[in-house]
Amino acid sequence: MDLNLSSLTNNEAMEKEHHPYKVVVLGSGPAGWAAALYAARAEANPLVLTGLELGGQAALTYTIENYPGFPDGVGGAQLGELFQKQAERFGAHVEFDRAAEVDFSKRPFVITTDNGIEVKAESVVIATGASPVHLNVPGEVELTGRGVSYCATCDGWFFKDKKVVVVGGGDSALEEAIFLTRYAKSVTIIHRRDQLRAGAILQSRAKANPKIEFLWNTVVTEVVGSEAVKAVRLKNVVTGAESQMETDGVFIFIGHKPNTELFKGQLEMDEGGYILTDKRMQTSVPGVYAAGEAADPVFRQVVTSAGMGAAAAMQAVKFIEEHELEEMKKER
Ligand code: NAP
Repeated sequence: MDLNLSSLTNNEAMEKEHHPYKVVVLGSGPAGWAAALYAARAEANPLVLTGLELGGQAALTYTIENYPGFPDGVGGAQLGELFQKQAERFGAHVEFDRAAEVDFSKRPFVITTDNGIEVKAESVVIATGASPVHLNVPGEVELTGRGVSYCATCDGWFFKDKKVVVVGGGDSALEEAIFLTRYAKSVTIIHRRDQLRAGAILQSRAKANPKIEFLWNTVVTEVVGSEAVKAVRLKNVVTGAESQMETDGVFIFIGHKPNTELFKGQLEMDEGGYILTDKRMQTSVPGVYAAGEAADPVFRQVVTSAGMGAAAAMQAVKFIEEHELEEMKKER
């Protein structure tokens, strides 16, 4: 059943028709790597299709301070590398490729990748994560990469001694605003209410930071600029008053949407597009499991995603073992 991958090129290994992978993991964030580690340690030789964002959203976080085992915090990208190294040490096979199509209608499941490779799988762990929500205001798309950003870790450096605004009032907005104060001259957090959604620790830190100001009950209605961001148009949602504020950068952190489009019509989801699973991480298709932010609108932490990934892989391995046993009985 197992492939001897060492003698094959990657594509040959992935295409090997009559030898479906026991476990294929889609995604390389904390959930994906934890699933890969657990499946590898169960000797299921998992294949990880990393997706385009190696390490997922966590890899874009400058410092992760709430992942147990790192009392001084750990860089998001560094933690991703450690996760990958650990999964590979036990035999996970990693491909920088993405699932473009899936067929979960019968086993083995079929996954066709962006590179046109057809992968067969006895079980699948979906750990495709989530992506930032857009404001959907004029100028946002046009000025993305020219002052509009969804990642302070990636783009903060470009705003050295500049003026930036951060949109949102959740943990992400505050965490990223605090990070941006390393570079920016000033950071204005624009929030649509007068109360923050973020947790108490981040609220105290942000409020104590002399570079951070808050603009309450306000929404951004337009990002202004041609070659680069020059200003944001604002509306006070209480008074209706409109105004314009000059800024060099607009960092948007207003939540995330799950990356589950690919599975629509094949797996049951809630109205937000999050994949529905039972307590054992199984989706509506037996043998297909989901973990991390693709299936979790509530906790969305590195530690919870990793835990879900581990649980999903344990169940995937159990599922395969049970099916192998059934097949053996039939053959007798
Ligand atoms: P979030 O908690 O959903 O917060 C989104 C924020 O954006 C809210 O303040 C919301 O306003 C605002 N918002 C939503 N749509 C908007 C719109 N169209 N225009 C203007 N504002 C809008 O999202 P998140 O901050 O990305 O956090 C997601 C999850 O990750 C949470 O569970 C969070 O705890 C977790 N997280 C944790 C940490 C940490 O523990 N260090 C760090 C980052 C994220 P309202 O408040 O009015 O709804």
